[in-house]
Amino acid sequence: MVFHKKTIPEEFGTLEREVRQQMEKYKFCQSCGMPFGKDPHGGGTLKDGSKCSKFCSFCYKDGEFIGGDVSLKEFQEHTRKAMIKDGANSFLAWLFTRKMFLKNLERWKGK
Ligand SMILES: [Zn+2]
Repeated sequence: MVFHKKTIPEEFGTLEREVRQQMEKYKFCQSCGMPFGKDPHGGGTLKDGSKCSKFCSFCYKDGEFIGGDVSLKEFQEHTRKAMIKDGANSFLAWLFTRKMFLKNLERWKGK
């Protein structure tokens, strides 16, 4: 069976547009600040298995934060170690986990 473009329900088109807008809105993970372009999975996953455009695959899986609801301080330590373990330059790891930097991200606003 061949699906023509006009057989796609209008709602689906709207949803797709919204998702795309969201993707454009967040260029960095709103938890650790990693650019989505650097994420090998292109983002975390929601509960239903679909892509999350707000948090990366290192922070977010199946609709929950990996490591649970930690404080900013705990998160800094965890991320820094994980980045170094993954072969990241320790200077970069330090840079990306600074409080000043993380505080601008949505997850940590007001924390
Ligand atoms: Zn992240």
